[in-house]
Amino acid sequence: GKPLIGFIGLGNMGGHQAMNLIKKGHNLVVFDVSKDNVNRLADKGAKVAQSPAEVAKQADVIVTMLPASAHVKSVYCGENGILSTIKPGTLLLDSSTIDPATAREVADKAAQHKATMLDCPVSGGVGGAEAGTLTFMVGGSAGDFEKAKPYLECMGKNIVHCGDVGTGQVAKVCNNLVLGISMIGVSEAMNLGVKLGMDPKKLAGIFNTSSARCWSSELYNPCPGVLENSAATRGYTGGFGSALMNKDLGLAVDSAKSIGEPLFLGNSAHQLYTLVCAKGEGHRDFSVVYEYLQKNNQD
Ligand code: NAD
Repeated sequence: GKPLIGFIGLGNMGGHQAMNLIKKGHNLVVFDVSKDNVNRLADKGAKVAQSPAEVAKQADVIVTMLPASAHVKSVYCGENGILSTIKPGTLLLDSSTIDPATAREVADKAAQHKATMLDCPVSGGVGGAEAGTLTFMVGGSAGDFEKAKPYLECMGKNIVHCGDVGTGQVAKVCNNLVLGISMIGVSEAMNLGVKLGMDPKKLAGIFNTSSARCWSSELYNPCPGVLENSAATRGYTGGFGSALMNKDLGLAVDSAKSIGEPLFLGNSAHQLYTLVCAKGEGHRDFSVVYEYLQKNNQD
């Protein structure tokens, strides 16, 4: 019959992804530690489980969308975890952003249970999750990638095979390394320009038709009022939290350290986001670094 899809981690991203699987006609069994998040899916017809183990007992495919490496380890390998009850042949798709080493480690453990795990982190944000237009960066064998693709296509638009297990996370971590650095770069330059007397919209317009052009300037400008629909203009609400960016930069720093590779700007960017989070801004959108620079250098 039709495969039953398990979904664990129904937060800002996962909630929408699960909803899109239902919209495409799939049957879901879901679990989250947050009752509110579970109820939203139960209202749409999803079956509710009381633990990851109870999901794994029934599901043929399981998608996870959890905050960080520690959550992934516990949901898969912990007591009442997925691997404690998993059926041989189960396809495991982890779309959390975690470190590549943990992704490989958990995939190895899954293989010992005759299950296949692929790392499938995403970009595209909450908007992309809701619209079903996410980009998936997938690590696993070519054959396993083909098995995963039809499910990922229910939640995303660009499904990219990056290479072996772990390389999806490598691609994601490197993407966010550029993003964190470019957001700080645009914030620093916008802040300087405005304080030197330039109109922010004019300055952004110059950037976007000149060599400073980049995603952080053109589509996500951190200066309030430059873009009508940016997180900055909404008071840095409802986007990609500084704490998550800090986590991702930490993954880049750790990965670089593990192979002895220098990361000059990545380390600086990580330090700045650590500071921004320590100042209580971790829950606000990561473009809040503009406001931080602006306010902390006022006379
Ligand atoms: P979130 O905090 O909104 O959602 C995480 C969900 O996991 C929550 O519902 C939480 O209750 C649940 N959870 C935590 N521990 C659990 C456990 N042990 N068992 C079951 N459920 C548990 O986070 P999010 O914004 O949805 O992000 C999830 C992942 O996606 C992160 O790794 C993040 O870096 C990545 N990501 C986020 C965005 C974004 O824009 N928000 C974009 C791309 C990637």
